[in-house]
Amino acid sequence: AKKSGRGVVRVFDESMDESIRFRRQIEGGLSQAIANGELRLVYQPIVAREQMEVVAFEALLRWNSPQYGQISPGLFIPIAEESNLIHELGDWVLDEALKMLAQWPGQYVSVNFSPRQFRRQNFVGHVVERVQHAGIEPGRLQIEITETAIFDNAERAADTLYRLRQMGFRIALDDFGTGYSSLYNIRKFALDCLKIDRSFIDGMGRERESAAIVHSIIHLGHALGLEVVAEGVETEAHLQALRVAGCSHYQGYYLARPLEAAVAVEIANERYME
Ligand code: C2E
Ligand code: CA
Ligand code: CA
Ligand code: CA
Repeated sequence: AKKSGRGVVRVFDESMDESIRFRRQIEGGLSQAIANGELRLVYQPIVAREQMEVVAFEALLRWNSPQYGQISPGLFIPIAEESNLIHELGDWVLDEALKMLAQWPGQYVSVNFSPRQFRRQNFVGHVVERVQHAGIEPGRLQIEITETAIFDNAERAADTLYRLRQMGFRIALDDFGTGYSSLYNIRKFALDCLKIDRSFIDGMGRERESAAIVHSIIHLGHALGLEVVAEGVETEAHLQALRVAGCSHYQGYYLARPLEAAVAVEIANERYME
């Protein structure tokens, strides 16, 4: 549009979708955010059924922008994902989570990796290098990916997951049940953990279908030797229904909100509930 002259540019600018303009502003802000110290990780407990104790944390990114205030990662991660910013951001997240792991003696910290990060050239070597540099045992890092990351190029993804697992990393499939995968075809992938998407947990009390899906994910997941984490446990009723379904691991506001790093480190080895 720019080549067509001033008039056209102005018309284009005026009609430019607010959301596109907003995206550009977010992108600009985000490119400064690391250097300006505007990012931090919070850590949401993952609680094991037996003792209701915190065995792990999921690291979740927070951005406090001087311009916009707190912006949800649900909003800015997809924008970063569409530019190369996701790599810089992802590296920051990984390094930060590894620093936390060095201070916290629990089982593992689960870190979200976007599809583009996962598909980058030499992803495995890249992660190995940072984990070794931090002096963390690979088994204490869980790599969380969604079905989108693996089903676009299933063979390559299966190979990447296999190599990560060979190196000792834990692998979790996030938002399970919302994508294309079935319990049948996840056998091809080297996994340790399934995270049941919170939409199913939320539906459990209302619809037979959601309850049936949750039950079958838990049972078949366990039969395949996987850890199964229920996400979005918001009420006592959710927790009870999941107990009945045989769920082994829970995550959600009813158990704990995401915590600041210092607080997360403090509750090391302490029983969280009961
Ligand atoms: P996710 O990976 O599915 O993370 C779980 C989201 O659910 C988090 O939102 C968490 O705060 C929220 N949550 C936890 N318990 C409950 C609950 O009981 N009820 C409800 N309604 N929500 C609950 P958050 O932190 O806003 O993150 C949103 C999404 O942004 C994440 O979804 C993930 O896809 C992405 N994300 C967050 N941090 C990172 C990161 O470091 N890297 C990448 N690539 N993505 C990230
Ligand atoms: Ca996640
Ligand atoms: Ca999830
Ligand atoms: Ca999600």
